[in-house]
Amino acid sequence: MTEIPDFKKAQAKALEVLDQFGYTTPPVDPVKIARDLGIRVFFADFKDEDDKISGFFFAEKNEIYVNKHEYPQRQTFTVAHELGHKFLHEDWLKSSNYQVLLREPIPSVANDPKEKEANAFAAHLLVPRFMLDKYYKIASLDELAKLFAVSVPVIKARLEYEYKR
Ligand SMILES: [Zn+2]
Repeated sequence: MTEIPDFKKAQAKALEVLDQFGYTTPPVDPVKIARDLGIRVFFADFKDEDDKISGFFFAEKNEIYVNKHEYPQRQTFTVAHELGHKFLHEDWLKSSNYQVLLREPIPSVANDPKEKEANAFAAHLLVPRFMLDKYYKIASLDELAKLFAVSVPVIKARLEYEYKR
């Protein structure tokens, strides 16, 4: 049986978390959310081969490690992605099947429904539609990226998804 990503569930969970933490305006800070949940977040110096990694969740210790060589918007997305696994795939996160997030994801991993769901969770957490509605007509791509503290490609993808533009 082929698993199909449940984007509705990922989106609903992201909105639930925003509501729980009282976010009504951007930017959303997933590092603060993680820390408020008791998850420790570390920005680490990934050396040699490990520098291919964007970040990972160390479930046993309830810790997220982020590659500090990446630019800040990417680090933010990585933390939001790993939080998505925490909220959506807790059992898998604790299993040996769990996959770290790579800077250049390999297709077999990137096509995993769980990875797609974690990315959708991150996108909806960082750039929720209800916040985007207020600004998308009056701000440029660059301004939106700054406002939401995400990269321009993330804003572009969100605009395309929500407004087909
Ligand atoms: Zn992942």
